[in-house]
Amino acid sequence: MYCKYCGNKINDDAVICLSCGRQVALLKHEESNKTAADTIPEEIKG
Ligand SMILES: [Zn+2]
Repeated sequence: MYCKYCGNKINDDAVICLSCGRQVALLKHEESNKTAADTIPEEIKG
């Protein structure tokens, strides 16, 4: 695809344009379900 800011050709999965340095796509990584497992009390595990 092409950067909508400067028109430079970039990868389809690129998040930031290497030419102008602007963000061209949303970040896909969401690490929001990591903390749940660490909060389980000992008595529930067994
Ligand atoms: Zn650009």
